[in-house]
Amino acid sequence: MPGPLTSYADFYQHSIDQPDAFWTEQAKLIDWFAPFTRVCNNDKPPFAHWFEGGKTNLCHNAVDRHLATRGDQAALIYVSSETGIEKTYSFKELHLEVQRMAASLKAMGVVQGDRVLIYMPMIAEAAFAMLACARIGAIHCVVFGGFASGSLASRIDDASPKVIVSADAGSRGGKVVAYKPLLDEAIRLSSHKPEAVLLVDRALAPMDMTPGRDLLWADLRAKYMQAQVPCEALDSTAISYTIYTSGTTGKPKGVQRDTGGYAVALAASMKHIFDGQPGETYFSTSDIGWVVGHSYIIYGPLIAGMASIMYEGLPTQGMDGQPNGGVWWSLVEKYKVTAMFSAPTAVRVLKKQDPAYLKKYDLSSLRALFLAGEPLDEPTARWISEGLNVPIIDNYWQTETGWPLITLMSGSTNGVERKTPKFGSPGVPMYGYRVKILHESTGEELTRPNEKGVVVIEGPTPPGFMQTIWKDDARFVNTYWKSVPGKMVYNTFDWGIRDEDGYYFILGRTDDVINVAGHRLGTREIEESISGHAMVAEVAVVGVADALKGQVAMAFVVPKDAAALTDASAAFKLEGEIMKRVDGDLGAVARPSRVRFVSVLPKTRSGKLLRRAIQAVCEGRDAGDLTTMDDPAALEQIRDRVKLG
Ligand code: ATP
Ligand code: MG
Repeated sequence: MPGPLTSYADFYQHSIDQPDAFWTEQAKLIDWFAPFTRVCNNDKPPFAHWFEGGKTNLCHNAVDRHLATRGDQAALIYVSSETGIEKTYSFKELHLEVQRMAASLKAMGVVQGDRVLIYMPMIAEAAFAMLACARIGAIHCVVFGGFASGSLASRIDDASPKVIVSADAGSRGGKVVAYKPLLDEAIRLSSHKPEAVLLVDRALAPMDMTPGRDLLWADLRAKYMQAQVPCEALDSTAISYTIYTSGTTGKPKGVQRDTGGYAVALAASMKHIFDGQPGETYFSTSDIGWVVGHSYIIYGPLIAGMASIMYEGLPTQGMDGQPNGGVWWSLVEKYKVTAMFSAPTAVRVLKKQDPAYLKKYDLSSLRALFLAGEPLDEPTARWISEGLNVPIIDNYWQTETGWPLITLMSGSTNGVERKTPKFGSPGVPMYGYRVKILHESTGEELTRPNEKGVVVIEGPTPPGFMQTIWKDDARFVNTYWKSVPGKMVYNTFDWGIRDEDGYYFILGRTDDVINVAGHRLGTREIEESISGHAMVAEVAVVGVADALKGQVAMAFVVPKDAAALTDASAAFKLEGEIMKRVDGDLGAVARPSRVRFVSVLPKTRSGKLLRRAIQAVCEGRDAGDLTTMDDPAALEQIRDRVKLG
């Protein structure tokens, strides 16, 4: 590194101008069993191979290397408001559990490179299973627990796992969801059959065991109580896992990730972005089924030597199972959480709770709240920022990137000054990412401030970025790297602008554009305008085919006051006000042709709006693949409201 880099601009530029020097420095944040001989091999773009020749192991970096210095310190803090169970595992205890799991997997025939599919609720054993795979070089494929048999079956076929690790059941809002029958049905549906299934019995639901295939974790754990399973020295480029994107825009893509690049990327992000210090506590409210769960419940915090809270349950349910909108804040107080990571959708849920909850607990340990996954609207950001009195750091990324692509560096130990957040912007490009805004049809770079275009990344992509789509290099190249004319760049499929200070604003997905009488409008912009109305809790805008205008905008609004749902004149009045507001903000052309009130919007299980499904329903089409949808009743409401005309 050249002298101390105290400004973001210098730090970022160094990563772009001298990537080898920059990443060699970051690579010191993890342990290597053998040093790498080449920092980045980009001989065959767009495939970037990081730290070639190097040997390392994610599990070693997350667990073993902390044993000497912080073995008795908390590593995994498991909290379930579904079962009332709360248990802390020190690094030493985690090390033992992971070895028991690793020995069990080996006994089931799992060797390096084999896939292990993990279909589990948010229980500590799921973390053991992921870390155990990393330990022995097996590739884990975590599938969000509670997905229906059909979506699970297609993932079993895609991943062709030797072993599946699962449990009797998950639980959501106090309702038990039996996983075993879903899993059995999925295995029946899939062409690929696993050799063995390892089951954690939580005693929530009965299990039909298939002899010769199904094994109980309790039995194997007892058998391998004292097992010592060393960490395999894996090639830096060895595949660590595959994970599917959320499926918001269509068929999910199987994102494949490496070992060494990912470990370095996470270690660097914990230092520079999330300000995570060893011995402190990190709390990400995501799920292991999503990339945030992989990067910032399991690997990131543990690699940084932090304790990580793994929470099972709703944000609005106490440890006694009773409604409690303060449960997350109680955990912040109890475990002295310093960094918290959640999603705007969760904050909107909390916003509907009694504001007194925010005052009830001592939240002084908290230094920042990080939010990601969808656009952070200003009212939500303001509410939580005033409530917590800490910086709210929006971060923009994708399953594909593995870690934030655009945000603000919040590290307190890296000597880089923190830029001031701007409402509505996740911030500026992170080190290693060559972010550009291109004209969607000409591919020309847009360099003037506030010009709207497609957000793309120029290769080579940094460590931690996806290697390819599992088993499908051609789909990787064609989907992501060949969609902009004349240029081989990675397309995020999101719209964005960069303002005069270099801050980026994400304006929604490129397929969320509607065309009203020749005017191209982003649904996100219309939603922003509508959500500024004091009586609007949530909104989704979609374009609906119209014989006259091509498309018209239609808005579905969750009102703060339920009266608008039942009282026709209240609804009519609010609809008029909302239309007027859009007229004022964006012009009459953007005005929704209809505003309809619903109590809930259709979302993926990761909390993202399913606009494509709403649009299909509005146009009387089949809503397509809904396996990732959270609440089918939400789409039924849309159907009803559309029928009303
Ligand atoms: P699929 O690619 O299968 O359709 P998905 O894109 O929803 O699913 P994810 O990788 O979970 O799957 O989500 C990434 C997307 O989420 C981004 O491309 C962007 O559209 C949106 N997103 C994430 N973080 C932010 C943010 N901070 N601000 C705005 N949008 C965000
Ligand atoms: Mg996507």
